[in-house]
Amino acid sequence: MALIAVAPDVMAELKRTRRRSIGIKVHRGEVTVSAPMRAPLVEIQAFVARKARWIRKHLELQRQAAARPTELKLEPGASLPFLGESLRLEMSTQPYGVVRDGDRLLIGGEADLYKAKLARWLVGQAQAYLPGRVAEFAPRVGVKPQGFSVRFYKSRWGSCNRRGELQFNWLLMMAPPAVVDYVVIHELAHLRHFDHSPAFWQVVREVMPDYAIHRAWLKQQTSLVW
Ligand SMILES: [Zn+2]
Repeated sequence: MALIAVAPDVMAELKRTRRRSIGIKVHRGEVTVSAPMRAPLVEIQAFVARKARWIRKHLELQRQAAARPTELKLEPGASLPFLGESLRLEMSTQPYGVVRDGDRLLIGGEADLYKAKLARWLVGQAQAYLPGRVAEFAPRVGVKPQGFSVRFYKSRWGSCNRRGELQFNWLLMMAPPAVVDYVVIHELAHLRHFDHSPAFWQVVREVMPDYAIHRAWLKQQTSLVW
């Protein structure tokens, strides 16, 4: 098997196959390029170069997903993913709630209340952050939502109803911003199409052409961990 360069720092494995076109797969941080037996190397390299951005994006998403802790350990030094950033948890001796200071998140009080305090903080962050995202995308989707709420779901990121009300899972605050945007656009698009029909996905695609990678990111989060 040969190696070809996607970029100076990214290599791909080249597999010659019986397929008729060139294909790229990014799996577990490895890039594989499948090409027809007779495809000239320059043609393969040109194809891979055109897809370099897509490949990088997938590698980055997979790296983020792999780096995400399977279980949040609420102890000093642990990190909390927050809108694409990583906040370091530090226990404060002050008996206040939760205070963010740069990339540190200070939690005070009794240890058995940390988790509840953190949850309340994330709810507050979601309530402050999401209205702006909804306001940004609603006109682009062409809908007028009738308010929204933030709540906890075990197995979904958002929902909406026929009254035009949106609900979002506050655990979304632990996802990268583009993923949050995708969920917002997804729910808004449901106000136009109350299903997952091709027409629905077309609306999503118009607002966010690369939505598929953000959707894939969410799928990689096998379970919502809290
Ligand atoms: Zn949906």
